[in-house]
Formats: sequence, structure tokens, C-alpha cells
Amino acid sequence: MADLLVVEDEVKIGELLVSALGANGYTVTWERDGAGALASARTGSFDLVLLDLGLPDLDGIEVCRMLRRLQPECLVVVLTARRDEMDVVEGLEAGADDYLTKPFRMTELLARVRAHLRRASADALGSGVFSSGELTLDPGARRCLVRGHEVALRPKEFDLLARLASEAGRAVSREALMDDVWDRNWFGSTKTLDVHVAALRRRLAEAAESLEPPAYLPLITTLRGHGYRLEFQGGPPGERIGPA
Ligand code: CA
Repeated sequence: MADLLVVEDEVKIGELLVSALGANGYTVTWERDGAGALASARTGSFDLVLLDLGLPDLDGIEVCRMLRRLQPECLVVVLTARRDEMDVVEGLEAGADDYLTKPFRMTELLARVRAHLRRASADALGSGVFSSGELTLDPGARRCLVRGHEVALRPKEFDLLARLASEAGRAVSREALMDDVWDRNWFGSTKTLDVHVAALRRRLAEAAESLEPPAYLPLITTLRGHGYRLEFQGGPPGERIGPA
């Protein structure tokens, strides 16, 4: 079963989380501050971190960023009591995969944790190797290559790209992306989706520009009010990702 790290300074909430997650078969490590969280992340190996952003010692956003660096494969769900949208966006930009706003129902948290730990299904992501321009995506091996060079994508970024690639050249609705990549029962804000698309574009552009000449990659087109489309042919040269 999965190893979880809970970072929460409020004893009541921490105890509830530890007992509920433990009862569901997860192995749980509980840290009450940022320093403890980072120490645990340096020595242990976790599948998912539940990170309260309001910590007594360190800035939760900074802890999120450092956790990302220490354990790139680990999923991070931030918990925030603050309703401020900026916290959520900052958390996602610092590398969180998802967020929950306090107060949350334990059933919702457990459903979310379960959904995250279950990889997006092969059906949704497509099993064939996708290739367009100089991008190659192999969902089975979970590899993303740009002109033969491997690009390190975060788990959700990979799933998102694979989901778009499974219907390359066609519009994929926001609802379909949220359902297939995050959680079938998702009904919350889709800021998560936009931040992940932005991060994915940034990562691909960086990978393309790091090569000489810059690699030619398919664009991810925003369809206002609907969703996104991964262009199959890579778009005309004037639209190539990277320097003109
Ligand atoms: Ca707190």
C-alpha cells in the first residue's frame, strides 16, 4: 500500500488524518512543521504528501517547492484554510498536483487520495506510442521524448499530455481532462487544469529550446470555453514552439 506523508500542525486534524488514512490501509508519517516535513522527505520515500500550507515555521509554498525537488515523483496535495485564490494558484505553481480547501469532508479527502494514487487508466491515456513533430510519447513506458531526449514530466503533466495525444488534432473538453486525469467525480475549480497546461507548455518549450536547432513540437491550443487541443502536425512553422 502507499506511503503517505501528512504535514499538519493542528493536532486535531493531524490525528484525524492519521487515523482515517491508517484505517484505509495507508502507511502514514505525520510531521507537524515544515522542517520535519523536509527531514522526512530527505530520508523516506513517499507516494503522496498532504501538505497544510499554514505551517508554524516555514512558508508552506516554499516547503511545497522543496518537496518537489526532493521527491519529484511524489504527488502533493496542498491543504489550505485560506480561501484566497492566490494561495491555491501559488501552491499549484510551486508544484502541487491538487488542493483541498479546509474544512473538507474526510470522505472527500479519501476519495481524492485514492484517485491520485490510481494512475490515469491506460484506456483514457491511449496505449499507442504517439509521435508528432519531434515529440514522442510512450504512455506504456511513461516516457516523453523530444528529438530523442527524455523530458522529465511530473505525473499529472504526463497524463495530461497523453490524454490530449490520445485525441490529437481533436478538441478535448475541460470536463473530459479533469475526469480522466484527476478524478472522475471532480466538481471543483479547474484552475488546477490551467496551471498544469501552463506548466506543461513551459516544460516542452524549455526542452525544445534547449536543443540546437530548437525542436519542432506540436502546440497545445486553448479552446476558450471548451478545452484544449493538441495539434497533430505540429502547426505551421510560424507557430513553432521556441525561438522563431
Ligand atoms: Ca496550519
